[in-house]
Amino acid sequence: MAATWSLGSALRGMFSRATIDDETWSDLEDALISADFGPDLTDAIVDELRGKVAKYRTTDPADLQRMLRETIEERLSRLDSTLTLSNRPAVVLVVGVNGVGKTTTIGKFAKFLTNYGRSVVVGAADTFRAAAVEQLATWAERGGASIVRPQQPGQDPASVAFQTVEKARRDGIEIVLIDTAGRLQTKSGLMDELSKVRRVVEKLEPIAEVLLVLDATTGQNGLAQAEAFIEHAGVTGLVLTKLDGSAKGGFVLAVQEKTGIPIKLVGQGEGIGDLTGFTPHVFAQQLVG
Ligand code: GDP
Repeated sequence: MAATWSLGSALRGMFSRATIDDETWSDLEDALISADFGPDLTDAIVDELRGKVAKYRTTDPADLQRMLRETIEERLSRLDSTLTLSNRPAVVLVVGVNGVGKTTTIGKFAKFLTNYGRSVVVGAADTFRAAAVEQLATWAERGGASIVRPQQPGQDPASVAFQTVEKARRDGIEIVLIDTAGRLQTKSGLMDELSKVRRVVEKLEPIAEVLLVLDATTGQNGLAQAEAFIEHAGVTGLVLTKLDGSAKGGFVLAVQEKTGIPIKLVGQGEGIGDLTGFTPHVFAQQLVG
């Protein structure tokens, strides 16, 4: 089944015409705008494609389709989507606003890693919501990871993070995934808390990745959220969740170009197996057809 964010139906009419004409260009522009590429990126892509079509003197819409796919892949490939997890232990902070799919992502990511034979411990450093800790514990268990919980509700998140890294060192666990709070109502408080978690963890180990989880269905709102975290939390990679939902494909490229941070993982469902690495080639193929 084609992904819901595929440009397939929006572009079909355009690519089935006999030749590239003015209508083709305006249809392409409409398709990109309605897929959430945003006006700047849409203009940049259309200009680039006009240049290529002129250079190669083609009038065949099939060539235009191939060029669109290549342009999107090339732009997505400008940033490196490889996860850096070579430290032992490799410490990953997972940040993002409540509701974006952070807990689920941690469970799925643990599963992704344990499937590759890696050992994983999860740190429940969102210590204020007891129910959230229990939910995280369930997902960690599904993912084949152990968990370090707060000893009492409201324990200093940084101390839970510290204890998690200590456990990994003691037990020879390879990867540490630290869940963090996501209450954006108290933005400065939250950012201070994240900085403290970083500082305390770095007393033991360098931080391998700070992954910001974003709900891909939130479009421009998601971008605004991303900026606060990028400014304060040292984000090294993005995780886009809910790409199986009503997400628009253009958001994926727009978010990477706007933030300058690579997408490293994508969630496409609520199941434990529904998280994959991000491959620009595959994505561009699915998007453009
Ligand atoms: P948190 O508050 O950020 O920890 O969010 P949760 O992990 O509890 O997820 C919030 C909701 O989003 C839950 O209903 C999840 O099942 C759902 N969810 C998370 N990731 C995905 C995804 O990739 N696809 C879909 N369709 N739902 C997701």
